[in-house]
Amino acid sequence: MADKKYLEDFEKKIKDTIRDYHLLSKTDKIIVACSGGKDSIAILYLLNHLGYNVSALILDLEIGNWSKKNLKNTQIFCKTHNIELHRISAKKELGYSIEHLMSCVKAKKAVENCTVCGVIKRWLINRKARELGADKLVTGHNLDDEAQNIFMNILKGNPSLSAGLGPKSGIEAQELFVQRVKPLYFCTDAELRKYTEIMGFNILYSKCPLSSAVFRRGIKNCLDNFEKDYPDVKRNIVRKYLKTKPALVKAQKSKEKGNIKRCSICGEPARAEVCKACEFRKIAVDTNE
Ligand SMILES: [Zn+2]
Repeated sequence: MADKKYLEDFEKKIKDTIRDYHLLSKTDKIIVACSGGKDSIAILYLLNHLGYNVSALILDLEIGNWSKKNLKNTQIFCKTHNIELHRISAKKELGYSIEHLMSCVKAKKAVENCTVCGVIKRWLINRKARELGADKLVTGHNLDDEAQNIFMNILKGNPSLSAGLGPKSGIEAQELFVQRVKPLYFCTDAELRKYTEIMGFNILYSKCPLSSAVFRRGIKNCLDNFEKDYPDVKRNIVRKYLKTKPALVKAQKSKEKGNIKRCSICGEPARAEVCKACEFRKIAVDTNE
């Protein structure tokens, strides 16, 4: 009985977020970026259950058994719930493994695996979602992720980096960017864990074996510790951020003057002559020569 109430409240929270922030409509063609983990499976299930026009897109990173199990779980989940699943292979798209790219980039730049992977993921997934004619791209980002992002940008001394965060990602709509939305924006990691456990989804809870986000993990531990003494600290960070977002967006817009260019290598949208994904790929190519 307690579980039933929990599931109802959880579902209501997602519906409220979608309505309050105008994230999705029933006529949208929606792609859910799926990793096979608890967050993306939860939102894929819910949107399908609520009658949205969804299909799933998995970027297969081909990182050993971890990726194999996540792919298998997602395939079985989509088959069971009659959801179309698209798969792209990182190796096929890049010409080499994501692991190879990470080691090449790290040999030349002080970046972490998750940064390299995050850039490549966004680049490949945006392109594929656009090819599939998606109106919206749903990601499984939750309240913990967002509070960490906001806090990280403050500690980097650059809060203006947060202008593109929020339930609807990006500063403004861009033709080449499929609009990314985060219906799990106000759900905590712990709430999602509980939801997926009650639902009994067959998913992996372990993190990627190559994950090395030292800075992010430090922030996560710090916020988790804070929350023991100051409940709602993460929610407060996000709420406060949403109030300041319009000013951040305004400042960023006047700085960029609508100046999104096209990457001279891949043609995807970029803030510089060459996009971040191509900057990384170029390092791997150069290393091979
Ligand atoms: Zn590029």
